[in-house]
Amino acid sequence: MNILQDMTKSELMEFITANYGVKPFVAGQIFGWLNKSADFDGMTNVPKTLRDALRKDCVAVAAKIVKTLSSEQDGTQKFLFELCDGNLVEGVLMRYKYGNTLCVSSQVGCRMGCKFCASTLDGLVRNLSAGEILSQVLSVNALGQGKERYVTNVVLMGSGEPLDNFDNVVKFLRLLSDPDGLNVSLRNVSLSTCGIVPNIVRLADMNLPVNLTLSLHNPFNDQRKQIMPVGNAYSVEQAVDACRYFFEKTGRRIIVEYTLIDGQNDSYAHALKLASLLRGLSVHVNVISLNPVKETGLRGTSETNLKRFLQYLDKLGLSATRRRTMGQDIEGACGQLRRRYMNDNGN
Ligand code: SAH
Repeated sequence: MNILQDMTKSELMEFITANYGVKPFVAGQIFGWLNKSADFDGMTNVPKTLRDALRKDCVAVAAKIVKTLSSEQDGTQKFLFELCDGNLVEGVLMRYKYGNTLCVSSQVGCRMGCKFCASTLDGLVRNLSAGEILSQVLSVNALGQGKERYVTNVVLMGSGEPLDNFDNVVKFLRLLSDPDGLNVSLRNVSLSTCGIVPNIVRLADMNLPVNLTLSLHNPFNDQRKQIMPVGNAYSVEQAVDACRYFFEKTGRRIIVEYTLIDGQNDSYAHALKLASLLRGLSVHVNVISLNPVKETGLRGTSETNLKRFLQYLDKLGLSATRRRTMGQDIEGACGQLRRRYMNDNGN
């Protein structure tokens, strides 16, 4: 099956004119529909015979919204997307003053094994193609009813490790920022990684000006390895060096994610080590308390300890803020909704 949303406008034109013998403008019309996440039935100005022929060998909408949950607290929406092989991934739309940020998934499941994360509990099922990642953005953007850019910002923070699906994620970034397509500036895109060092370097060399986010969670290698197996392959020092290189190449400030787990990484010693590790790096630290996932048995840090940790960082001269937790009433943490849906549906 060809996923049409995997293709740039010129790739689509070539594919459709070569295989279906139609004029390029028809391919251009189809490209327009794909950007609105319309299925073949909805492509009303495209000849029906062509639509029927395409339907046989191609997928139009690669990620269809099959369930939506809306938070009553803050308007956050959580989406469950169905891929063409029936696999499910999640996305979350968060509303801010400056625009709407969509969090998308890059893999079904994940093989990184972080102990606190729901996405990795069943391991990696498969990578998403570039079009399957893009389709999440297009499908939600289409809810904006006519607003060309309903989704203004994108974060690769749903299920999966983006740098473990490198080529497809890079193609996704190119498709997303393509002036022929949605034309989202990569400055409005954040890519979050647990720290696959060689691929941070590769990404830096491609000069894609995304915001790079490093999920650090513990500055001591021996402790970090206990919660993040990727630490066995790359030390925190190596990860931070790669981030430094990324900053040198792109000029984009690095974001460090720091999830506080009760009694594990919230002491003064942790703050002190974190500050010395990040010294000299252009960086901002996002602190959040762990969103408890039933299966993991881990607990988030108390409100008091979170504030105390932020004060430590402040005194140590690190730029740090608390990341607002959004959509807690709708299973905000990644991987939770998919698990719930699959359990409810007897999978
Ligand atoms: N694989 C990427 C993206 C994963 S999710 C990465 O590791 O960065 C995005 C962020 O959410 C990561 O920082 C991840 O560590 C964090 N996260 C995962 N589960 C969480 C939970 N239950 N509570 C708080 N943060 C969590």
